[in-house]
Amino acid sequence: MANKIVVDDCTSCGACEPECPNTAIASGDDAYVIDAEKCDECAAQGGEMACIAVCPTDCIVKV
Ligand code: SF4
Ligand code: SF4
Repeated sequence: MANKIVVDDCTSCGACEPECPNTAIASGDDAYVIDAEKCDECAAQGGEMACIAVCPTDCIVKV
């Protein structure tokens, strides 16, 4: 399982990228993207998902 960014709602503000402990987030063509291979839903940090906490448009969702 990994988180996913809803492309239409992402403003590419970049706030989430430095918060990810697994460097799973990067800028893509139309929006930021989460590498499903790297995202562990912040399990090692107790499951408090850093990217969701900081995203101003609430466009990061669990899949
Ligand atoms: S849930 Fe955690 S590990 Fe997954 S992308 Fe967000 S900050 Fe990174
Ligand atoms: S914090 Fe939200 S709006 Fe900003 S780049 Fe990340 S996913 Fe996109």
